Amino acid sequence: MHWIDIGVNLTHDSFDADRDEVIARAADRGVTQLVVTGASLAGSAAAIALARRYPGRLFATAGVHPHHAHELGPQELPQLRELLRAPEVVAVGECGLDYFRDYSPRAAQRQAFEYQLQLAAECGKPLFLHQRDAHADFTSALRSRGRAPAGAVAHCFTGGDRELAAYLDLGLSIGITGWFCDERRGAHLAQLVGRIPPQRLMLETDAPYLLPRDLTPRPHSRRNEPMYLPHIGAAVARARAETPEDCAAHTSAHARAFFGLPQAPESRPRG
Ligand SMILES: [Zn+2]
Repeated sequence: MHWIDIGVNLTHDSFDADRDEVIARAADRGVTQLVVTGASLAGSAAAIALARRYPGRLFATAGVHPHHAHELGPQELPQLRELLRAPEVVAVGECGLDYFRDYSPRAAQRQAFEYQLQLAAECGKPLFLHQRDAHADFTSALRSRGRAPAGAVAHCFTGGDRELAAYLDLGLSIGITGWFCDERRGAHLAQLVGRIPPQRLMLETDAPYLLPRDLTPRPHSRRNEPMYLPHIGAAVARARAETPEDCAAHTSAHARAFFGLPQAPESRPRG
């Protein structure tokens, strides 16, 4: 079984001491390809540098998260455009709107989001989208542009049936994280995940965040890792009444087509 983690914050400093081991552990569990999230200009450059060390296995996004939206003005656009040209970059983002935290003023968030919608149209790469408590502004920004030519994925989907219907109607793919495994906050997703067509569904850990709550034993560090993706995949498969093998196959096939990834490398033989 091959799994693809489409959202992992591997440049996060919690991985500084053992990043290569984290990548090796994931590969040992069949998580053979990872898309490293870029959330700022510096973070995107770091994600690209990391992806370059693992050709065919690690890829990167380049973009500015709504939390950092105030860092993206007109004078930064050439730099982001340049990052997006890197062959390791398979998506524009993480970008979108976050009115839950409001770390950047909302006007700045909307402007940075507009810039990145425009850059995605220019560079022909898909969008990696973040939305929290901003559904109306988010969907209206997407709708006013029409369908993203190279597609878009709403990462870490945690919404309800109305949001899911709106996203599917907009042509978005849906990223499901270990939030799904949280019996307090994620139970409603079990009802919804069966409504996502297989050619629209992808899986992600969002590591080091969102450690699945039902892991046993629970790691002391509480740090999430891409090696836990098959755990999320098994829970999603159960809710969709399909086998983990089928879930791995169709989520990987969609991720590969969506991001334009090469075939998965053979897993390393275990000694
Ligand atoms: Zn996010």
